[in-house]
Amino acid sequence: MKKIKRLQKRIALERIQILFSNAIHYSTINKEIGQRQLELIKRLSLKFNLRLPYPYKLFFCKRCKAPIFPGIDSKIRILNIPKLHVKVVCLKCNNVYRFFVD
Ligand SMILES: [Zn+2]
Repeated sequence: MKKIKRLQKRIALERIQILFSNAIHYSTINKEIGQRQLELIKRLSLKFNLRLPYPYKLFFCKRCKAPIFPGIDSKIRILNIPKLHVKVVCLKCNNVYRFFVD
């Protein structure tokens, strides 16, 4: 049973990587398809209890959980005060949140 779960998780992660590269490809051509793919990533990660790696986290707002494309639906700035971090402003809900770099 444990072995099956591990296999499922590995396949889900593989699928997430494919969807992610597709979403980036479609972000400039057809935004709706790209957003649909990001929604699928969210659903997969919830179903198989996967923690998304760092670059994937920039694609979802922390507050409204909506799929956002960095630079299109959000503003991204790198700041050094008080500590080195990445500041993200969601343009859908105007929420500000930070990812600290250690
Ligand atoms: Zn938001």
